[in-house]
Amino acid sequence: MYLMDCIFCKIAAGEINARKVYEDGEITAFWDLNPQAPTHILIIPNKHMESLSAAGKEHAELLGKIQLAAAEIAKNLKVEDAFRLVTNNGRKAGQSVNHLHYHLLAGRRFNWPPG
Ligand code: 5GP
Ligand code: ZN
Repeated sequence: MYLMDCIFCKIAAGEINARKVYEDGEITAFWDLNPQAPTHILIIPNKHMESLSAAGKEHAELLGKIQLAAAEIAKNLKVEDAFRLVTNNGRKAGQSVNHLHYHLLAGRRFNWPPG
């Protein structure tokens, strides 16, 4: 599904420019416009899905592929020794774009627990 007013659907479709680092038939990854770390990549399914809460068993393979893509991207960007992969699920958890996305962050020290 493609949502007309969804910025990440448009990035996946190539209608809005982004600095893409990975792309296949199911997944797109690109640099975050407002990076929170020296390396800050967003990884999304090409098909619109609101959040992880909207995923079902039929998405198990896709979700696995996203994690493997994250590891591959981390390797390509030479940050595989230390990175954080996170999804903000829901507005109160910090989600501002309602198209499932994972943040791949690296290149600085991260605190735990996160803020
Ligand atoms: P969220 O707050 O939903 O977890 O993350 C959304 C992220 O998308 C933010 O880090 C924000 O900087 C990024 N973002 C929002 N609009 C755009 C855009 O048009 N292009 C890119 N590359 N990143 C965007
Ligand atoms: Zn979308």
